Formats: sequence, structure tokens, C-alpha cells
Amino acid sequence: PVPTVAVVGRPNVGKSTLVNRILGRRAAVVQDEPGVTRDRVAYDAEWAGKEFSLVDTGGWDPDAEGMARSIALQAELAMRTADVIVFVVDSRVGPTDADEAAVKILRTTKKPVVLVANKVDSERQESEIHELWSLGLGEPFPISALHGRNSGDLLDKIVWAF
Ligand code: GDP
Ligand code: MG
Repeated sequence: PVPTVAVVGRPNVGKSTLVNRILGRRAAVVQDEPGVTRDRVAYDAEWAGKEFSLVDTGGWDPDAEGMARSIALQAELAMRTADVIVFVVDSRVGPTDADEAAVKILRTTKKPVVLVANKVDSERQESEIHELWSLGLGEPFPISALHGRNSGDLLDKIVWAF
């Protein structure tokens, strides 16, 4: 079986956009409305000659408490089933309570966790990622899933972790 990479994070941070970027096609559903990706969906992916299974996650309640619980479940499931966890946060929003709730769980795993600061659409916005160090997952990796900025470097980092 090929390695599994799970993409986790709050609604609307750009998980499905990143999954589509990695796949090179629009397979995962992207919408401005939170709550679109209801289930975990696995796609066959490949980078630098390495095949892997890419899991887009979702499924949350609209209220904040429900969201925190949902992301915690997501994180637990990812920890059990994934070989590499890609934790996506919105660099424009910064770390939220829900992000911190997920990180508490993710930090207990021995599996590699890549902290992705998404929506860094330009170099000027890279200064906004520094507060994400407070999550305690190491250096935030700035990308723009929408424009593809740094996505190749991120993929190198992900497959390196196999
Ligand atoms: P998900 O709920 O985490 O799967 O997030 P989506 O992939 O559905 O994206 C939510 C919204 O964020 C959509 O409007 C996307 O177009 C937007 N988005 C995703 N990635 C980026 C990015 O890198 N830059 C910007 N500016 N918007 C993004
Ligand atoms: Mg989604």
C-alpha cells in the first residue's frame, strides 16, 4: 500500500484547494461556504515519482464548539490513519482556538506534521506567518494553494517525510 497523506484544518482554510493543487485538477470541491467537504475523500496522487493517497477532510458543525470538536476528531483520525499529516491554517486569520485544539492532539503523534500557512499569495504577506510559530509545530510553511506559490516545495517536503 502507498503512504497516506491527510490534509486537516479548520473549514475554509483552503484544504480542498490545496488537494486540487496537488492533484493538478479540480477533484475536491472548493467553496466559500464552510461545510462543503462532508466526508473524508481519498485521491491517488503522485509527486517526484512517489505515489501516495491524499485524503481531504471536512465534516463539521457550524457552531464554534462543534467545529472544535469536529477538528479534534479529524486530527485523531488523521493520526491513526495517515503517514504524514498536513495541518493547514489560514495565515490571514492567524492561530485560532480551534487550531490550538487540533494542535494539542497533533502534538502527541509520532508521525510527521507539516504546518502549512495558506493564503500567502505574495511575498509581502510572508511576515504574517510569524505568529503561527506559537502553535508549537515548528516553522510554518507559507504557500498559496490558490496560486500555486511554493506548492512544489511543499510537495518535496511531504514526500521527503515518507
Ligand atoms: P476548505 O474548507 O479548507 O477545504 O477550504 P477551500 O479549499 O474550500 O477554500 C475556501 C476558500 O478559500 C475558497 O474561497 C478558496 O478559493 C479560498 N482559498 C483557498 N486557498 C487560497 C489561497 O491560497 N489564497 C487565497 N487568497 N484564497 C484561498
Ligand atoms: Mg474542503
